Amino acid sequence: MTSSRKKNAVTVLGATGSIGDSTLDIIAQHSDKFDLFAVSGNQRIDKLAEICRRFKPIYAVTVDRLAAECLEKRIKLDSLDTKVIYGEVAFHSVCSHPDVDVVVTGIVGAAGLLPTLSAIDAGKKVLIANKEPLVMMGQSIILRAQASGATLVPLDSEHNAILQCLPQRERLDLPEKSVSSLLLTASGGPFRTFSKVELAHVTPAQAIAHPNWSMGTKISVDSATLMNKGLELIEACILFSMHPSDVRVVIHPQSAIHSMVEYIDGSYLAQLGSPDMRIPIAYGLAYPERITSGAEKLDFTKCSPFEFEEPDLDRFPCLRLAREAAEAGGIAPIVLSAANEVAVGAFLNLQIRFTDIPTVIEFTLDTIDMISDGSVEQILSVDEEARRLSKGLIERQFSG
Ligand code: NAD
Ligand code: MG
Repeated sequence: MTSSRKKNAVTVLGATGSIGDSTLDIIAQHSDKFDLFAVSGNQRIDKLAEICRRFKPIYAVTVDRLAAECLEKRIKLDSLDTKVIYGEVAFHSVCSHPDVDVVVTGIVGAAGLLPTLSAIDAGKKVLIANKEPLVMMGQSIILRAQASGATLVPLDSEHNAILQCLPQRERLDLPEKSVSSLLLTASGGPFRTFSKVELAHVTPAQAIAHPNWSMGTKISVDSATLMNKGLELIEACILFSMHPSDVRVVIHPQSAIHSMVEYIDGSYLAQLGSPDMRIPIAYGLAYPERITSGAEKLDFTKCSPFEFEEPDLDRFPCLRLAREAAEAGGIAPIVLSAANEVAVGAFLNLQIRFTDIPTVIEFTLDTIDMISDGSVEQILSVDEEARRLSKGLIERQFSG
């Protein structure tokens, strides 16, 4: 007997990345519930071709023409019907197409801004992994979702945990009067116990070897500097209408508790699970229902005892910079995120040391002299100017 319930058509942005892998795994496990409408990728065309072979999406999107031509050849060789399209308009169309129900944002960095907005403005269910666009847009992203009727579900494990610990409600952004604070947990990353001197000599390979999570390169470095937690602090303020002072960060090296909500009566609700992104992704895809994820069950005897400690802002100044940017508001979060992307890229290219990352960000925050009316155009110009200033400093101070 066939089910009369329509399958959900899903667009997976950044399908070739780590979020993409986990999302496709859930879709494969639940092929009775989900169909892949479109996938996108940037450089790993072999992997994108393999995804097309396996899932037969209607569209495959690349960033540029060259990649599209290369993919097109592979698709033809495999006699697939998948249509290959590329560029900004292509991204817009697979995010806003009337046949699409769900868009998963797995692109890394500011590059995901316009596709995320396309999905939100088209009123889709948008599963947000790509946190940088949220940080750039601030509260206006919530207003856009309200205007279009889009449902935003965070996939970031911390925000997904918070969502699971809040009473079920229609919108994320309603201020929950009975909530007194949010506690974002952080593993502390690979350098949690390193001294300042040791931090100055860590290599990209060490930085991307996260102790608990397997993720893309940029977010792995962000986890090592604690900037990831800083971006998540800003993300939490936006998604849950919280003041930065009511969002705390606590280091929890076991990564079993993914975050907590503190209520005014002194109750804390926490969400626990193994560190596997398939859990929040399964929750997001089925939201507000639940489906299996295939993740390993949490073995409490192996992850105990649970430890908690304060983050050390002296050794990890990126978290301090992010908190200051959250409090300052305005263009500060945009500048923070853009300068961080440049600095992380420079660290991975061996142009600067790990400990120079916060120096580049702080310089850019202190130097930029711009204002923004919150329009997408101005947000993009602030992003561009912040990148120019960061790159300039790296060239002047750290090259040669
Ligand atoms: P990744 O590096 O593994 O994958 C990035 C994806 O983005 C790839 O598919 C790549 O092709 C695509 N991409 C890169 N540059 C692009 C561009 N200019 N235009 C279009 N596409 C481009 O990264 P990831 O770890 O999957 O992270 C993706 C996003 O999700 C990030 O914003 C990250 O902060 C967030 N996130 C990831 C995890 C995780 O466990 N990996 C957890 C929480 C949040
Ligand atoms: Mg996270």
